Amino acid sequence: AEQVTIDNITKQFDETVAVDTVSLTVEPGETIGLVGPSGCGKTTTLRTVAGFETPNAGRVLFDGEEVTHVPPEQRNVGLVFQSYALFNNMTVQENVEFGLKMRDMPKEQRSERAAELLTLLDIGEMGNRDPTTLSGGQQQRVGLARALAIEPRVLLLDEPMTGLDAKLKTRLQQEIGSLLDEIDVTSLYVTHDQSEAMVMCDRIAVMNDGHIEQVGTPAEIYEAPANNFVADFVGTSNRLDATIRNGTLDLGHATVTAPANAPNGSVTVVARPEAFTLDEGPIEATIEDRFYLGEHVRMTARTPDGHELTLRFDPTHAPESRHVTLSLDPDRVHILR
Ligand code: ADP
Ligand code: MG
Repeated sequence: AEQVTIDNITKQFDETVAVDTVSLTVEPGETIGLVGPSGCGKTTTLRTVAGFETPNAGRVLFDGEEVTHVPPEQRNVGLVFQSYALFNNMTVQENVEFGLKMRDMPKEQRSERAAELLTLLDIGEMGNRDPTTLSGGQQQRVGLARALAIEPRVLLLDEPMTGLDAKLKTRLQQEIGSLLDEIDVTSLYVTHDQSEAMVMCDRIAVMNDGHIEQVGTPAEIYEAPANNFVADFVGTSNRLDATIRNGTLDLGHATVTAPANAPNGSVTVVARPEAFTLDEGPIEATIEDRFYLGEHVRMTARTPDGHELTLRFDPTHAPESRHVTLSLDPDRVHILR
């Protein structure tokens, strides 16, 4: 597998700066998720790595070798898109063989490789089918088999799960996530769905308005978001203005223990719903809404000074009363300055 380096890429369309001096290195064999809201520049970044866009500034390198101006067909990248883009006048098997045929691989060898990949992706018995007769999930597997057939230097995926139903999506995320772990290919996985990226990727790059806000493992991004944007985009977070004074965290309506070694001063506290526990703690709140979600109960609550909190509880321990008292686990609080 190869290292992919995006080095200070800027891409402008007329007045729109779609990608603004983005740098990112994907290590050999790694899968990085590029996440962010619609229009933030994910697809443009991916298309620049594929060679469909030439950046106005910056470079793309594969294993240190500059490919910025190398045409897409010479980059040997595998592509998987939301629209499966399968060839409907060919069988599933022929679809997977297509790139190999283009590369003049002999018939027997390419059949063998296509069959192997179809088996790997659990659609081994579908080689002779017409792609239009397959379900969305099966078509997406064919798309992935076709992309992997050419043994790409780099695999690029752009919202490949869009349009699949929730249950299938969860299954494919796990399956394809493990597959990307096992096979030795460097991947860039674009999605607007942060939880999908958390399941499938080794690291996540959070994009906003053409630039990267933070790169880190799913745990780093979730537990230590670099700023308000990341805290809000990834998971549910409560953000509270607070003052740290000698080990205490003054939230206005209540004072709790501050995280260890937090210096004094005005801060923003990022507290995930699960950082609050229901006990005789100092934080008072009134439950305003409750949503039963099976695995947990989500509640919105309001503190006496008017701050809204999102809380979550195990259904068997969810409070029945309207008025609750809570503590905040100092080890699960993240401080922004
Ligand atoms: P994302 O994939 O994150 O939704 P895109 O990379 O598709 O974002 O788009 C980023 C920005 O660039 C958007 O404002 C989009 O409208 C603009 N854009 C993308 N491609 C083109 C294009 N070919 N021509 C003009 N504007 C474009
Ligand atoms: Mg896009």
